[in-house]
Amino acid sequence: VKKVYSHENRLIVFNLKNVLEDAGIACVVENEFSSGGVGDLSPFETWPELWVVNDADEERAVKIIEDLNQPTQQDWYCSVCGEKNPGSFQVCWNCGAERKPAP
Ligand SMILES: [Zn+2]
Repeated sequence: VKKVYSHENRLIVFNLKNVLEDAGIACVVENEFSSGGVGDLSPFETWPELWVVNDADEERAVKIIEDLNQPTQQDWYCSVCGEKNPGSFQVCWNCGAERKPAP
C-alpha cells in the first residue's frame, strides 16, 4: 500500500477515493475517524489519508489526483449550442450556457 493523498477535509479525501475507484484503482482511507483525537496524536496530525492498495497503481493515482487539482485547460464544447470554448472559460462564449462536465 502507498499513501497518495492527505487532506484535512475528509469529504475531499472520500471524493478522491470514489474517483480512483471509478478508474479501477483499489484504495482505502486511513485515519477516517480521527477527528476526536486518538491516543497521543493531535487531531491536526491525523488528517484522513488516501492509500492505494496496489503499489503498482500509485503512479496512475497520483496523476489522476494531480489532474483533478489543476484547472482543466482543454477545449470543451458547449452542450447547448455546440460551440468550441477554450479551457479557461467557465461559460460558453457564444450562448452563455454553464460549462458542463463531459458525460
Ligand atoms: Zn453555447
